[in-house]
Order: sequence, then structure tokens, then C-alpha cells
Amino acid sequence: MAGSPRVGVIALQGDVREHERVLQGLGAETVRVRRAEELGRVDGLVIPGGESTVIDKLSRQFGLQQPIREAISTGLPVYGTCAGLILLADRIIDGTEGQQSFGGLDIAVRRNAFGRQTESFEAELTVPALGEEPVHATFIRAPIVERAGADVEVLAALSDRTIVAVRQGNLLGTSFHPEVGGDARFHEYFLRHVLARVRSATASAR
Ligand code: GLN
Repeated sequence: MAGSPRVGVIALQGDVREHERVLQGLGAETVRVRRAEELGRVDGLVIPGGESTVIDKLSRQFGLQQPIREAISTGLPVYGTCAGLILLADRIIDGTEGQQSFGGLDIAVRRNAFGRQTESFEAELTVPALGEEPVHATFIRAPIVERAGADVEVLAALSDRTIVAVRQGNLLGTSFHPEVGGDARFHEYFLRHVLARVRSATASAR
């Protein structure tokens, strides 16, 4: 589709295909990102769920860590789900020894915060930014946001107030996996930011 935004999905590990399906369903073009060159050609970026320690290590091996950090600091819209949220956090609690993140979100996330007893669960979330209809959210060995800085907008929390979705500037993160729940509204919300940035770049280039 001409004029559709091009969204990269970090394809080192994790549920890449599920994100591609949702993004394509919304009319975006998707590109699998494994190398820095591929990063330069996208209007937005998704960091999928999977295992944050593995994505961290591979991103360093593939020479992607620095380019991703630069892209984040220059305003590229990035959406991280679950492990992706961990990778966007400035601080990781209960990370493995030497685990790093790309950072950018002024938050502290706790990995595997729901413990072994509740490896996965589903919940209906109220997300005012997405309208009245609750979002059916799937949590799989999910992190939580334990602390959020003043510039972080909390988009959703569980009934006990545990923060599970945040936005700060160009960065969006959810503890859960909207890509497996059949509800495309988080991706749609993300794509709106991607399109807004594409439009403002096109306008200033004229
Ligand atoms: N527990 C995983 C991690 O620490 C995240 C799980 C997920 O992405 N579903 O990376």
C-alpha cells in the first residue's frame, strides 16, 4: 500500500510473526530488523515479547544496541511488549547478571513479577486512552512497572494499581501481549504516533 508506514520488528527472538500479522492487518508494511541498516529504513519499531536476556545479548552481538539507543533518543516511535517493555526500561529489577536494556523509559520494571504460581493469566483492562471497551490482556511471565518517573504517562493498571502499560514521548510499553489477544487497539494507537511523526517529517522537508 503506497503511503503506509513501514514498521520494523526486532527479529532476534520472540513472537515476531504475531506482531507482523497485527501491523499488516492495520495496513502497515513490516520489516524484520536484525541489522543496523534495516533500522535506518523504518518509521517505527516494535520490540516483541520473548526473553529479554536473549534479545539483549543478541542485540549486542548483532551490533544493534547502540543504533537502537540512538534511534530511541532521536524520537523513533518504539513499542515494546513484555520482554520489549523490559528492554525499554531505564532500570531492571531481578535482571540476570550483566543484563542491559536499551532504555529510554524512565521506569523501573520487575521481571517475572507474578512469580511461578501465576506464570500466565488474562485480565480485562480499562485503558482510557483506547476508549471505553476494556482491553483483554494476556500476561505471560510478565514484568510490572514498579516505579514510573514524572514524565511517564500510565495508560493502564491492574485492579491493585500495578502499572502494566505506559507511554513516554515516542516510547510505548505494555507488560502484556496485545499481539496475541486479538485486540489491535494498542498497535493502532502506536501506528497513530508513527504516522504523526512521518507526516511532520514530510511537512518539514517540503
Ligand atoms: N520473562 C520474560 C523476560 O524476562 C518476558 C516474558 C515475555 O516476553 N512474555 O524477558
